[in-house]
Amino acid sequence: MKMELRKTFQFEAAHLLPHLPEDHKCRRLHGHSFMVDVVVEGECDPKLGWVMDYADIKQAFDPYWKQLDHYYLNEVPGLENPTSENVAIWIWDRLKPALPLLTEVVVAETCTARAVYRGA
Ligand SMILES: [Zn+2]
Repeated sequence: MKMELRKTFQFEAAHLLPHLPEDHKCRRLHGHSFMVDVVVEGECDPKLGWVMDYADIKQAFDPYWKQLDHYYLNEVPGLENPTSENVAIWIWDRLKPALPLLTEVVVAETCTARAVYRGA
């Protein structure tokens, strides 16, 4: 039986979107409480009753969370244009090798806006 797990993380960070027009609000330096969903899918082990340990998802994401939390994202290598879309791709590219069951990365800047990346 296949099952999907979603683990939610939060980080605080500042950014600006350098390619937008000068008068666009997202061109100004500002911050968000970003929410990230890391989604995996796999077979549910019949004896353990789970796909994998949530703690292993946390451990896999932790080094990247530490590079994002309370940073100015534009200065993080690879995030010179830190849109939600690019943050999702950045996380996916780093996390996928350590988390082969990864199927989706969701990055939300606000409660009502999020980008979903499922790999190229
Ligand atoms: Zn923003």
